[in-house]
Amino acid sequence: MNTTSLATLTNNLMTRRRFLWLSSMAAAGFAAGCATNPVTGKSQLMLVSEDQEIQIDQQYSPYQFSTDYGTTRDKALGSYIDRTGKKIAGGTHRTHMPYNFHVVNATYVNAYAFPGGTIACTRGILLSLENEAELAALLGHELGHVNARHTAEQMSKGMLTQTVVGGLSAVAGAAGAGYGSLASQLGQIGAGALLASYSRDNERQADALGMEYIVKSGYSPDGMVGLMDMLNSLGKHKPSAMELMFSTHPMSAERYQSVVQSAATKYKSAKGRPLYRERYMDHTARLRAQKKAIEEMQKGDKELAQKKYAAAESHYRRALKVAPRDYTALVLMSKTQLMQKKWAVGRQYAEMAQKAYPQEAQAYHLSGFAKIQLKDYEGALAEFSSYDRVLAGNPNTLFFKGYAYEGMQKYREAGGEYQRYLQAVQQGDFARHAYQRLKEWQAKGLI
Ligand SMILES: [Zn+2]
Repeated sequence: MNTTSLATLTNNLMTRRRFLWLSSMAAAGFAAGCATNPVTGKSQLMLVSEDQEIQIDQQYSPYQFSTDYGTTRDKALGSYIDRTGKKIAGGTHRTHMPYNFHVVNATYVNAYAFPGGTIACTRGILLSLENEAELAALLGHELGHVNARHTAEQMSKGMLTQTVVGGLSAVAGAAGAGYGSLASQLGQIGAGALLASYSRDNERQADALGMEYIVKSGYSPDGMVGLMDMLNSLGKHKPSAMELMFSTHPMSAERYQSVVQSAATKYKSAKGRPLYRERYMDHTARLRAQKKAIEEMQKGDKELAQKKYAAAESHYRRALKVAPRDYTALVLMSKTQLMQKKWAVGRQYAEMAQKAYPQEAQAYHLSGFAKIQLKDYEGALAEFSSYDRVLAGNPNTLFFKGYAYEGMQKYREAGGEYQRYLQAVQQGDFARHAYQRLKEWQAKGLI
């Protein structure tokens, strides 16, 4: 890299994000502008095409799944959720979307939808549901968001420009902003901003659509009432486990009231239908056998968020006693060790997590990070390469590979990774580090 291109790069730092936003909007503008909302039939400002919704979905959902410790390895449970979701999706306004439904291993209570029809719920929320009608209501609500195009609407209003349009690079840049903070370096690239953007109107509409869809596919409207009851009572008893649920799907007394009311009036004739409690209990039996472990993880997460490492550790230890090969518990235990700078123990738990779930990426990142701290740079490089094989395209992996090469004093290889990182991310402490090294090595004639 020569001086001119470095200068150009510096100039680009300021303008690239803006350029990306403008050019993507321009591209979208030709395709769209105004579109008819599939649900309301009304024309609305729409700068995001259906193809883009699917593309955003495919780009972000694998990263969010990894942040949530991957999809369940309980195939029977996964296919039950997918089957139930697809049954409801058949009666929606956008039946042609590529819907797919998943269980993710996270233990906090939540469910979310990507704009192309990828929908996931956590182990935590499945454990809190009482019957299949409530599950249908949960999936129906998420389908409501997809069908009314809420994410695309928020993007068109410019509410989501920062993270979504900049793509993974922007998310990675934000993550790399806290180079000094260990927690941020251990963190994964999620899609939190993309998912936490619904308005209260969006929520009301998703509830109404969810209700319409579940009744249409044969369920009782009381499934939605039960879901709301559960969320309300959990909000009172376990507020910390509910934070994400309520930040992504704002709850309100009014929301609850209108669900109760439409169940009693508009959908009154469907009220007598079965709730399918036994069927739900049968299909979730294996999950419910993990209840104790999941609850210990929820408690541990609460302590970890407050940096009470010893308390968090004792909860995760209890979780592992019940479920010794639980990937989530192993990853959380590894993180807790690394946050206390216990690198070797942290690496050990990360390696156990890899064995428990070799197809999931997060554990490779953690052991790679631990190995960097232990100055095992070759080992770290191997871990980050494994991460890349499982989950490609994470700019942070480029940075850490560069860092490992730097530790090995392989400046040419390190420089190559840093350059590729800077092509994707131009802000934050990782970018500054990469940029400064490139400049330094160039001045010394090392690259
Ligand atoms: Zn919602």
